[in-house]
Amino acid sequence: MNDARPRILILGANFAGLTTARYVAEKVGDRSRITVIDRKPYLTFIPNIPLEVWNDNNPEVSLHLPTTRFFEKDGSDFIQGEVRGIDVESRTVEYVPGERPGSAAEEIGYDYLVIALGNRLALDEIQGFAEHGHTFTDTYYGDEVRRYLHGGGYRGGPVAIGSDFFQQGRHPELPELPVAEAACEGPPVEIAFSMAHWLEQRGLGDASTITLFTPAEVIAEDAGEKILDQLLPMMEEMGFGYLADTRGIERVHADGIEFDDGSSVEAELKIIFPNWKPHDFLRGLPISDDQGFIVTDLHMRNPDYPEVFAVGDAASVTVPKLGSLGHREAEIVSDTLARDVGGEDIDVEPMEFEVVCMGDMGGHRGFYMHTDEWWGGDTSILKIGYTPHMLKMGFKEMYYSLGGKIPRWGLPLSEFVADRSPV
Ligand SMILES: Cc1cc2nc3c(=O)[nH]c(=O)nc-3n(C[C@H](O)[C@H](O)[C@H](O)COP(=O)(O)OP(=O)(O)OC[C@H]3O[C@@H](n4cnc5c(N)ncnc54)[C@H](O)[C@@H]3O)c2cc1C
Repeated sequence: MNDARPRILILGANFAGLTTARYVAEKVGDRSRITVIDRKPYLTFIPNIPLEVWNDNNPEVSLHLPTTRFFEKDGSDFIQGEVRGIDVESRTVEYVPGERPGSAAEEIGYDYLVIALGNRLALDEIQGFAEHGHTFTDTYYGDEVRRYLHGGGYRGGPVAIGSDFFQQGRHPELPELPVAEAACEGPPVEIAFSMAHWLEQRGLGDASTITLFTPAEVIAEDAGEKILDQLLPMMEEMGFGYLADTRGIERVHADGIEFDDGSSVEAELKIIFPNWKPHDFLRGLPISDDQGFIVTDLHMRNPDYPEVFAVGDAASVTVPKLGSLGHREAEIVSDTLARDVGGEDIDVEPMEFEVVCMGDMGGHRGFYMHTDEWWGGDTSILKIGYTPHMLKMGFKEMYYSLGGKIPRWGLPLSEFVADRSPV
């Protein structure tokens, strides 16, 4: 039978794609056909990788959330496949079914397209990374750090943690936004705190064993001045080393890292966050910026191809590359589709940017950050204590049981209940 309902095709099903798919199913329902494509049938719960590593748990076991049952429940189709290309003129996507190698490429058409494919994390462009670097960007690399730390590889030497230079995209049709030089610096700061605690507990060192580095003028600049005025002196007092304005990584070698500004740091363990780059097949498309990120307005819609949306790290406006921003964008797109496809009478608010971040500091303590100062707003909240840590753990449980349909990432509730224990 010919199904005349419009097809909504969602590419990618991690944080931004899963939430979009679930809310679209709820809000548009059977007034559309929803199809989701991802190369893997599970979500990787990336923010909790460091916690699992410190506790000697394999993150590949605890942080893969199977997603197909959510799509089945919602009546959406899921294709496990590798997206190879998008043709916005013919409104088709090319993919290769991914379960077994050798599958033949297929095409699928769409009426509405949501691109939630994240980015490629360019570790392969860092000279020496494969031999000498470590990272926490996925569960494979997380488990590699776990085995190194807990399996007797680490000898207690100096540790360096930081980011490579991030090249933000440009395009004349993009809204005016601040420019970041690192993709996402919450994780290096969080890992520095929690690793200092891990070292202390084992008598292997403390904060002074660790040097944080950033390609930008100041680390975590998107946290805004008010929060940095509290955070940076606190880190200095704890004894962390700090290198700013490195401009990027020149090379990683057995004994440390050399930076593009000519400086260097000595380190046995090098924890590196790479440049977040768009997937190669997105570059040069009429919907992409000069790097390959997808151009959208603040309703996450491409101005020239209004049937194309982007959410999460793949969208040009998502800076820094934060899951909490992708979550808000997913809500905006699902509301827009509920209006445009479902005929709902909804007034869709444009994207408002803010950092909402819950970080582990070790010893069951954590920090909670909520700020929009970097975008010119006046919210600036930093809380430190046991409650933010509990909230971080509770957030994962809530996310798993609701399958991504959480009411706002990070919940302002934490602003009422978070305590303020001194560091
Ligand atoms: C260590 C760490 C800690 C973090 N902590 C936080 C935090 O506390 N708070 C926060 O807000 N953010 C945090 N982030 C950032 C957060 O993880 C990302 O912003 C988020 O994962 C982006 O979600 P996304 O769905 O846009 O992209 P991704 O999570 O990258 O998902 C993209 C999806 O697309 C699929 N895909 C990609 N290419 C293809 C293809 N060609 N074909 C088929 N499928 C494809 C992938 O399999 C994946 O499922 C952290 C990041 C790191 C590395």
